[in-house]
Amino acid sequence: MSPVVWIAVVVVVVAIVAVFVWRGRTSAPSVPAPRPASAPATITSGGGFGSAGLGARVRSLFGSANGDAWAQLEDLLLKADVGPRATADLTTRIRARFTPDADPVHLLRTEVLAILGPSRPVDLDGGDLDVILVVGVNGSGKTTTIGKLAALLVADGKRVSLAAADTFRAAAGEQLEIWADRAGAQLVAQDRGADPGAVAFDAVTSAKARGVDVLLVDTAGRLHTKQPLMAELQKVKRVIAKAGANVTETLLVLDAQTGQNGIAQARAFTEAVDLTGVVLTKTDGSAKGGVLLAVREELDLPIRFVGVGEELHDLRPFDPESFADRLLG
Ligand code: GDP
Repeated sequence: MSPVVWIAVVVVVVAIVAVFVWRGRTSAPSVPAPRPASAPATITSGGGFGSAGLGARVRSLFGSANGDAWAQLEDLLLKADVGPRATADLTTRIRARFTPDADPVHLLRTEVLAILGPSRPVDLDGGDLDVILVVGVNGSGKTTTIGKLAALLVADGKRVSLAAADTFRAAAGEQLEIWADRAGAQLVAQDRGADPGAVAFDAVTSAKARGVDVLLVDTAGRLHTKQPLMAELQKVKRVIAKAGANVTETLLVLDAQTGQNGIAQARAFTEAVDLTGVVLTKTDGSAKGGVLLAVREELDLPIRFVGVGEELHDLRPFDPESFADRLLG
C-alpha cells in the first residue's frame, strides 16, 4: 500500500473512533431533569427514619448462649431511643409470648405494631368548616408542617385557609405567608403583638364567609412563659367556638431529634388542650426510630403524620407497618 493510502486509512479510522466517542458522551444517561416546582410529589405513606437494623441484632442476641438475652434486649431498645416505659412494656409483652422455638423478631414486630396502633389520618368533618389547631414548642416545625399539611389538603381538592395566631414570635406571620403562597391557601393575619384570639376569630369568620373547608391555626410556642402560653391556647380554642366553629383536631408537633426531652416538654400541652394527634417532624435527620414508640407510649396519642424534610411535599401520613419494617430491617 502506498503511504497516501495508509494516511487515508488512518484518517478514516480516527474519524470513526472520534464519532463514536462523541456519540457515547452525548447519549450517556444525563442527570434527571429536576421536577418542576409546581408538580406535586407522589404522596406515599411511610417515610422517615432510616433503617435501624434492630431485627438482626435481636436475632443474634437470642441465638447466642451468652448472658441474659432479656436484659440485653432492654439495653438495645433503650439505645434505639425507645424510652424506659415503652422498653419495659415491649420486653414484658414479648417475654409473655416467648417460647424456645418462637422467632423473637416476629414477636417484636407484632408488639411494636400493637403499641403503635392502627394508622389514623386526621378526622375531617367534610361538611362544615374543619378547624385544625397546631401546637408545639418553637422550632419543632409547626409553621412548616402547617404549610405541608395545607398542600396535602389543597391537593385533595379542599379550600384551605391559614390563621397566623402566633403573633408573638418575630417573622412568624411572614413565614406563614410564604407557606400559604406555596400551598395555594389563603392567609389571615394581623400585626405582630395582636391578640391571638382576635386573629382566630377573624380567621373563622372569614373562612365561613368564603366557604373554606379547612382552617389551619398556627399558635405560639414560647415555652419559657409556659403558664400564659397554655392559657392563651385555651383562649384561642374558646374564641373559635364563639366564632361558630369547632376545633376538629388539635395536633401536637414534636421534633423527633429532641428525643425523650421533647416528650417531657410535650406533656405541658397535653395538660392544657385536648390533643388529638401528633405530627413527628425531622424524621429524616439523625433521630432514632425508637422515639416514635416512646411518643406513643408516653403521650398515648395517635401519630398522624411524619415530617421527612423541609420541602412542601415532605409530609407523610404515618404508616405503622412500613415504620416497623424500617425499625427492624
Ligand atoms: P416552628 O417554630 O415550630 O414554627 O418551626 P418551623 O416550622 O419554623 O421549623 C423550624 C426548622 O425546622 C426550620 O428550619 C424547618 O425547615 C425545619 N423543619 C421542619 N420540619 C422538618 C422536617 O420534617 N425535616 C427537616 N429536616 N427539617 C424540618
